[in-house]
Amino acid sequence: MGNLSALSPLERRASEAVDTLVDEMVDFCRRLVRIPTVNPPGQHYAVCAELIGAELGRQGYGVEYISADSHADHTAEYPRINVVGRLDGTAPRPCVHFNGHFDVVPVGDGWSVDPFGAELRDGRIYGRGTCDQKAGIAASIYAVEAIRRAGVRLRGSVEQSATVDEESGGYAGVADLCDRGIFSSHRQDHVVITEPLNHDRVCIGHRGVYWFEVTTHGRIAHGSMPGYGVNAADMMARFIEAVNGELRPRLEARTTAMPVQPAAARHSTINLNALHGGQEIGPRFLASCVADRCLAVYDRRYLHEEELETVRGEIVELLEELARRDERFRYTLRDLWSVPPVATPLDARVVTTFEGAVEGVVGRPAEIVASPGTYDQKHVTRRAGIVECIAYGPGILDLAHLPDEYVVVDDLVSSAKVMAVATMRLVGVEDRSRGG
Ligand SMILES: [Zn+2]
Repeated sequence: MGNLSALSPLERRASEAVDTLVDEMVDFCRRLVRIPTVNPPGQHYAVCAELIGAELGRQGYGVEYISADSHADHTAEYPRINVVGRLDGTAPRPCVHFNGHFDVVPVGDGWSVDPFGAELRDGRIYGRGTCDQKAGIAASIYAVEAIRRAGVRLRGSVEQSATVDEESGGYAGVADLCDRGIFSSHRQDHVVITEPLNHDRVCIGHRGVYWFEVTTHGRIAHGSMPGYGVNAADMMARFIEAVNGELRPRLEARTTAMPVQPAAARHSTINLNALHGGQEIGPRFLASCVADRCLAVYDRRYLHEEELETVRGEIVELLEELARRDERFRYTLRDLWSVPPVATPLDARVVTTFEGAVEGVVGRPAEIVASPGTYDQKHVTRRAGIVECIAYGPGILDLAHLPDEYVVVDDLVSSAKVMAVATMRLVGVEDRSRGG
């Protein structure tokens, strides 16, 4: 990287401006965390969008609120509201766009602090959604504000969006903005999604997803005379055994060239998410019956090197083989959800620029990673056709969705510096910047 690792005087000035903004940035992050934007069902989205929009407005952005009103989850009680801000430079392009999601997963058990108290203790901010990923939103907004306060004028433009529903697929969030042309290769040159991948890592994409549901169909009979029926749960047990015994070893042997972290997720995986057979289990006594229906939901994560058709074909093949062995094995297969894998090329400008900025700020080379699970990059790449997209942001991914989730303030600061330096390099600075 050579010269890329050294910061220019202007970059150093912007980086120092981040240090002077720490209290404001931390305060803003804590105010975001105190709004319980829990998804599902999508609580308090409007309040959170307005807080972010007001901050962007104060910093000179043109701000637009966009409600995803064509989306089924957008209701009067739980409106889906996204906010987009644009800060024009001397030229419209190049344009770098920072996106973060402000929905958070439900609290769950096991907390020792108030999940929405945003407690600041020992250099950490605690709360649901701190690391995933309200700290990312605070970091990108204050990174650009630091550039402005350092007296540096950007040549190109900066956009910031804060969106809903990432945790449930992002369809009323980033996908909606893609469909409206707000994310578009005609508008942005680089997109940075501020997910918690650690302040010293650059994430280039994620594995693919195939969720499916298998139902086995039996024949009901009296539970005291099971020989008269066909037990659908027993049939499902055969499928589960085939998945665990035959398919999984094959998947575990398949590895990807993508630098997925943790390394254990660097091969194909399959997980049984849900299983139900026979009657509904209620408070009352069950009738004595042979289970005539059994249902399993599986989550298959696949690699950049695999094709969805093949991935699905393997499941069909297992089921067909079981049906060939025993005519009583009857099944239906239903596709629930799928997402193709995405991987930004390592030589993309946004990747190499963030690599250089990490090295300049943190003092060691950035680690290039890919995510085991999907996030909104799929929409940016597939729907909007923007290849120049990465995830970069503060916080440790392993803490996301756990009790006592937190973000380390120093990481928040260091990633804001990286974002400031990378923004200046991506959109350029005007020569007439003060004292440049
Ligand atoms: Zn997230």
